[in-house]
Amino acid sequence: MSKPVPLFIDGQFVQSQTDQWIPVTNPATQEVIAQVPCATAAEMDAAIASAAAAFETWKETPVSDRARLMLRYQALLKEHHDEIATILSEETGKTFEDAKGDVFRGIEVVEQACNIASMSMGETVENVARKIDGYSITQPLGVCVGITPFNFPAMIPLWMFPMAIACGNTFILKPSEQDPNTPTRLAELFVEAGAPAGVLQVVHGGKDQVNTLLTHPVTQAISFVGSVGVAEHIYKTGTDHLKRVQAFAGAKNHMVIMPDAQKNHMISNLVGASVGAGGQRCMAISVAVFVGESRKWIPELKEALSKVRPGAWNDPEAGYGPQINPQARDRVLGFIDAGKREGATCELDGSNCTVEGYPDGNWVGPTLFTNVTTKMSIYQEEIFGPVLCCIEVDTLEEAIELVNNNPYGNGTSLFTASGAVARKYQHEIKVGQVGINIPVPVPLPFFSFTGWRKSFYGDQHAYGKQAVRFYTETKTVTARWFEDDITTGSNMTITLK
Ligand code: NAD
Repeated sequence: MSKPVPLFIDGQFVQSQTDQWIPVTNPATQEVIAQVPCATAAEMDAAIASAAAAFETWKETPVSDRARLMLRYQALLKEHHDEIATILSEETGKTFEDAKGDVFRGIEVVEQACNIASMSMGETVENVARKIDGYSITQPLGVCVGITPFNFPAMIPLWMFPMAIACGNTFILKPSEQDPNTPTRLAELFVEAGAPAGVLQVVHGGKDQVNTLLTHPVTQAISFVGSVGVAEHIYKTGTDHLKRVQAFAGAKNHMVIMPDAQKNHMISNLVGASVGAGGQRCMAISVAVFVGESRKWIPELKEALSKVRPGAWNDPEAGYGPQINPQARDRVLGFIDAGKREGATCELDGSNCTVEGYPDGNWVGPTLFTNVTTKMSIYQEEIFGPVLCCIEVDTLEEAIELVNNNPYGNGTSLFTASGAVARKYQHEIKVGQVGINIPVPVPLPFFSFTGWRKSFYGDQHAYGKQAVRFYTETKTVTARWFEDDITTGSNMTITLK
């Protein structure tokens, strides 16, 4: 058997005793590079028990010690940045540049976690009544859980466990079964940074393992990122079992192009945002909305898209990599067929894409549709491939209405030279992340990553600074101080008058 991926339980990397293994394949070659176990019920119980036991001591660990663990982890991630990106590229097929970005965006969240002391400060008001003070403190929840998708195997686990653990929680990560080697390396480096046994566990598997985590009485909070159907299941099951849940889901992101936009800037950004990473980003642009005269730029967009070609991760000329697996590629090809059948004009067809030297890769070439209507499945559904749909409207108001009526609300972007137009768009658009002359507006970790409508269920705190609100409880204390002398632990005496 090719390399078995270990479970990480109670501070040890152990081989699963399961008889259910899922092959991990290189999506450019179909070579099986690892086997990922579906953890047994006993292994799941062991991970949960270890996380619960570790919480009792970890929650009492001084905040500065928790911050120092994150400082060491941040340094190690930087030191091993390219090595992690190589592992990531091999199992996802992402280009090396793209993989490096995946790792770096995760490191930025660890940098935030180093600042845990000031982020978890409470508030104090003196004299809420005479001689009575009120203050709040934040405390960790207990065992927290993260369930992550295939498309950012470094960044998204790093959105979750460093901040949860810095807050004083323990954490069980269930990464995607399609690229488990990257999160395993993240866990190894966390041990090297000095993480005590039990603070982080990494378990593998699919639906059954996730359901155990969602329903177990010990788990307190669930962070999920993935597709909309699974997000709905996670949110419903988690909240039914009275857990705190944040579930980040799918997307259909629109870029609105005004006639006063800087054409060249817009086109190069739109090409990268639509077919970059093979369209396998929740913040990819999949619909371009041309307002008025801007429609005359469609032929130039087509020309620019036709020059991009997919390739292997270590080919510096490759614009993007393969789809993650053959089923994902077939799903994208199915949408391309549906678009043609439903009457859209296929200006560029990536269906029969080949890459020299990689006859078995899950390739799809850049695909461009015009004359798309809102009733077509290529408009309604998240395709998650390098397929861009163009829609033409006459006014900004029509564009805003179109975006606001789409079932998803993850990201959007507007290209314009007008401040007034940008201000109107920013104010009226009902979408979580908004870019003004920015194609993929992923916020830095000082802000929340959000999502509206079908793109998000639950508590909007996601990652970075804001995640402290998700991973802690606030306790408000109202304290009456008596007028007697109080002797402190030192030899100092305070007299309150
Ligand atoms: P996915 O939903 O198939 O899998 C995500 C996780 O859920 C994996 O760990 C998987 O093992 C688990 N899972 C799958 N089916 C399950 C089930 N029936 N019950 C319980 N758990 C289950 O998603 P994916 O294909 O890995 O990732 C792509 C999706 O993620 C896209 O829809 C994309 O838009 C979305 N995504 C969203 C964001 C965001 O922030 N909104 C970010 C990245 C990706």
